[in-house]
Amino acid sequence: MAIDLQKFKVVASRKKKKLTVFLQKFDEHVPPDLAEIVKETDATVWRDIDCTTCANCCKTMTPTYTRKDLVRISAHMGMTPKQFADKWLHKEEDSGDWVNTTQPCQFLVNNMCSIYDVRPADCAEFPHHNKKPFDAYNDTFIKNVHRCPATFTLVERMKKRIENEYEW
Ligand code: SF4
Ligand code: SF4
Repeated sequence: MAIDLQKFKVVASRKKKKLTVFLQKFDEHVPPDLAEIVKETDATVWRDIDCTTCANCCKTMTPTYTRKDLVRISAHMGMTPKQFADKWLHKEEDSGDWVNTTQPCQFLVNNMCSIYDVRPADCAEFPHHNKKPFDAYNDTFIKNVHRCPATFTLVERMKKRIENEYEW
């Protein structure tokens, strides 16, 4: 399904608080079959979400680049890692991570990643729905629930299911 980002932003900002409160409950209580619930629900998400019509992550966030990413991507571009970093990246003061200097990401072309085969590991893993255990990444999902339509859909569907199946 094509994603209407304008509509998503309105709906997500309206529902963000409720979904955040739901996610925060995992700090206290984790359903025993949470991993199964996440897996089954996530499979339904990707039947309905088409990232090529969205790219909101590439437009509004930055990946972090590992040393391996720098070496691989710069070689792909015929540059040294230093040339690559000097041209497009800066080091975050607090974390020391290499991140993009500009947004949207410089490699986003016509809503597609122009370095898809060598993209940063962080991009390949985004939106991190497969992280285990899911509840250990609550902060990530809370941060992304109003930015990523896939995470929003996952959390909303999980909320519905868990509230139906458990005393919550
Ligand atoms: S991962 Fe999320 S934010 Fe990124 S393109 Fe897919 S739905 Fe959009
Ligand atoms: S490298 Fe590619 S996938 Fe990663 S943020 Fe940039 S355009 Fe998006």
